[in-house]
Amino acid sequence: MLNTHHHSRDSAGFRYVYPVVSRRARGVSVGINLNPNHCCNWHCVYCQVPSLSRGHAPVIDVQQLQLELDAMLYDILHGCFMEERVPEGHRVLRDIAFSGNGEPSSSKQFQAIVNAVIELKERHALKQLPLRLITNGSYMRHKDVQQAMTSMSQHQGEIWIKVDAGTGEDSKRTNGVSITREHYLNHVEIACRCCPTWIQSCFFDDDQGRTIAERRAAYLALLQQMKSMDITLHGVLLYGLARPSLQKEAKDLRALPHAWMQSLATDVRCLGFDVQLH
Ligand code: SF4
Repeated sequence: MLNTHHHSRDSAGFRYVYPVVSRRARGVSVGINLNPNHCCNWHCVYCQVPSLSRGHAPVIDVQQLQLELDAMLYDILHGCFMEERVPEGHRVLRDIAFSGNGEPSSSKQFQAIVNAVIELKERHALKQLPLRLITNGSYMRHKDVQQAMTSMSQHQGEIWIKVDAGTGEDSKRTNGVSITREHYLNHVEIACRCCPTWIQSCFFDDDQGRTIAERRAAYLALLQQMKSMDITLHGVLLYGLARPSLQKEAKDLRALPHAWMQSLATDVRCLGFDVQLH
């Protein structure tokens, strides 16, 4: 049985395609892992990718990916997958999501893969099924990524773009990269112009860097700046730590109390955003 605590990338025995029961999607999400090499250009302190190292997606065997996704969708729609692998109450196919062991849009084949997945969605009569890109946003300025996101927007596409911090110092600690406010604003603006976009943000407490109160204030100031931009943001997905980080520098990470997360959600709502708290 799958559950919300274990998101093994090889639960179906495939290389690129893996089903999970997602707390965020509230059902079954079919993940597409374009980083089976466990390489990402970021190094988030809370990352659950084992043996994470810096790098990019490898060359993808697109034909194999298509075969795996075709077989997975067939089993979900016509086979025993739901009864045998999914707990009652979660037996709904919620989305196909580009999300895996690294940044999916770092694949040089990303656009071709998006087109292949769209074709399969149509072949299985899943036109209305959301197609999500879970991204750190760092490849937003690449034209082929923009074209892929625009194609997604015509096929129930959604972008979930990571914004965990409001300053370069905080992103250095949280995401292992120095990303300025201007970069965040630019990446979110590009995503919104290509495809419906949600911000997704992870909060936790630890004994490193600035206090959680300072990080929260900087994050809210950045969201306020986004609100004043001429873009449509669908909302903010807030989440805390549900599964342990697999990074060795993360041993002092602590989940924040639910009341703290609720009060952050209230502050974000007061800025005028829709919020989902997970
Ligand atoms: S962007 Fe995602 S895959 Fe990359 S380090 Fe952060 S959490 Fe891990």
